[in-house]
Amino acid sequence: MKILVTGGTGYIGSHTVVELINAGHTPVIVDNLSNSNIGVLDGIKSITGESVSFYQVDVTDIQALDKVFSENHDIKGIIHFAASKAVGESVKEPLKYYRNNLVGLMNILECMKKHKVGSLVFSSSCTVYGQPDILPVTENAPIKPALSPYGNTKQICEEIIRDTVASCEGLHAILLRYFNPIGAHPSALIGELPLGVPQNLIPYVTQTAAGIRECLTIFGDDYDTPDGSCIRDYINVTDLAKAHVVSVDRMENGKQESDVEVFNIGTGRGTSVFEIVNMFEKVTGVKLNYKVGHRREGDIEKVWADATIANNTLGWKAEKTMEETLASAWKWQQSLK
Ligand code: UDP
Repeated sequence: MKILVTGGTGYIGSHTVVELINAGHTPVIVDNLSNSNIGVLDGIKSITGESVSFYQVDVTDIQALDKVFSENHDIKGIIHFAASKAVGESVKEPLKYYRNNLVGLMNILECMKKHKVGSLVFSSSCTVYGQPDILPVTENAPIKPALSPYGNTKQICEEIIRDTVASCEGLHAILLRYFNPIGAHPSALIGELPLGVPQNLIPYVTQTAAGIRECLTIFGDDYDTPDGSCIRDYINVTDLAKAHVVSVDRMENGKQESDVEVFNIGTGRGTSVFEIVNMFEKVTGVKLNYKVGHRREGDIEKVWADATIANNTLGWKAEKTMEETLASAWKWQQSLK
């Protein structure tokens, strides 16, 4: 099937494009290259042997987006990644986030209606749960007030999709609520390319190990967790990518139980920051320079997924171990030298 992937040269997008090709689909990428570069297409080609068709288009430009749909009449589904994703930046520039994330999605939905494309996979986030009252968190947990404009856009996007699907015959969607994607393709030909100083844990860890950053700061060791550091559910990016492939197949095969389905995409395992540091050192043999600092504002103490519904209904399961995932992140970092 021909699948339009917005944000297809980005971190999760590029890994998903590879998995779509591996599954026999034909991806078409739309990306404005605001947080990725064209060289990612070479990485995808080296891994898969395929040249993917690419449009440098901003999803907030509805005319340009409409043209992509017109030129690709046989698009069967959309995987919509293109969005701004830095929590801190979203606090400083909320309008950028509301424009890119909400207008981008609305344009996609307009084009889907006009060109009669029925299936949408949307990148949502476990951020919609805030600090859950019950762990592991299930899809039925209440949506908590968002802690940032970024988080708010994910909540509003979910609502926009629900309302639009309810109003439009033939439109359906799968919302994937990701936990913390990490790692890189095992080939190290594609991976995460953070701009400037990384905000996320794993790129900071690998850059510190590579000597690019002097010292990792662990944000707080006085949380109510066994070792005092925060707990997250870290999911291998290739495993995460595969969840998108099974989602498009599920929709196209008419297997959905309702027109909008929601799945947690995580491992079901919680890992603390200290555990990550220790595992990274063990797997790579590199000693990490780190210190304990203050808590980071807005951080959630602990969250990990109940992925039972994704496992049973979607038939998807996280397969990679944390060790191989950390090793892949390190291999990728070293390839950037
Ligand atoms: N973290 C840290 N030092 C860093 C970056 C992150 O201790 O330099 C911690 C952060 O407090 C959180 C975990 O690592 O507990 C994951 O943070 P990240 O920003 O990667 O993802 P988040 O879950 O916040 O979206």
